[in-house]
Amino acid sequence: MNLLKKINYKWINKFSYPFIIAGPCSAENESQIMNTIKYINKDYVEVFRAGIWKPRTKPGMFEGVGEIGLKWLLKAKKKYNILISTEIANKEQAEIALKYDIDILWIGARSTCNPFTIEEIANSLSNTKKIVLIKNPLSLDINLWLGGVERLVNKNIFNIGIIHRGFTIYPSKTYRNIPCWLEVVNIKNKYPNIPIICDPSHITGNRKLIYEISKKAINFGYDGLMIETHIDPDNALSDANQQITPKNLTNILNKIFINKKKNKLNKLDLYRTNILEIDKNIIYLLKNRLNTSKDIGKIKKKNNIEIIQKEKMLDLKKYYKKICNLLDIDDNYIQNLFDIIHKKSIEIQLK
Ligand code: PEP
Ligand code: MN
Repeated sequence: MNLLKKINYKWINKFSYPFIIAGPCSAENESQIMNTIKYINKDYVEVFRAGIWKPRTKPGMFEGVGEIGLKWLLKAKKKYNILISTEIANKEQAEIALKYDIDILWIGARSTCNPFTIEEIANSLSNTKKIVLIKNPLSLDINLWLGGVERLVNKNIFNIGIIHRGFTIYPSKTYRNIPCWLEVVNIKNKYPNIPIICDPSHITGNRKLIYEISKKAINFGYDGLMIETHIDPDNALSDANQQITPKNLTNILNKIFINKKKNKLNKLDLYRTNILEIDKNIIYLLKNRLNTSKDIGKIKKKNNIEIIQKEKMLDLKKYYKKICNLLDIDDNYIQNLFDIIHKKSIEIQLK
């Protein structure tokens, strides 16, 4: 049997819809934890999150408070009768989280990239009944992601969910990590038994976009959301720009979920969103091409080289044709497009 089909969807049905995880990016101190949980709307939020070991891009940044943070989470759990969740990134962290009986464990994007890390974590969590959520890897490699999930299932872990937190594909001014809706919903189509959760905080990196991305995920049929929420977002020690206040969280969830039942997937919308993303990619690449063309123009000018070189153009045409054959795409269509692209490049180089 396909390992992925063994995942138990039932765990998510024990929660009400929508399944919401909220809480700060990082646990910073006890009062930040207790104050954040105090104001978080428990009608929506059934799981409180906080990272205590933080995978930071550069050394010297706030790297989390460590084990003591789990004590604060347990205190929050006891006082507010809420489930708690934290990120684990190696076997020692997995063992400590189990020792503290943390309810839900998540594996971060950087860890999902490394099969050795996942194998090691899966080993430590073998046979656990705990819920384990696994974020997508940094690059758009769905097999690597699902391979990580399989490693968990292989160790008899069946209460699993996947978190879409966006991918590093091309530099984007809008997103911190680009959402790839079609790819993720395709997983859901193939494996309806895998709960999918969207993390709009790490997708956007920007609190102004949390509502829009959360709404989109819910319209695409996601089971839930993980939203970074902090009592004082502007002064957060990590991911300040993307965290929202508990009050803002309630407003956003109210706007999305008032009178809302779980959606059936809106396929047309999904494909349209994908087209927008593809178009953005095309424009990004064209801009890149124009910049490169400009640089070539400077070198040509400096060295007195003709702007239009007939034999180079013929070479390019042959090159396009070869790629078109390989990809099985109408080469007339592509040549016509490139006529327009070249016209602009020549215009730029003539300037
Ligand atoms: C986080 O959830 O705070 C985090 C580090 O996320 P990611 O692994 O998605 O970067
Ligand atoms: Mn974060």
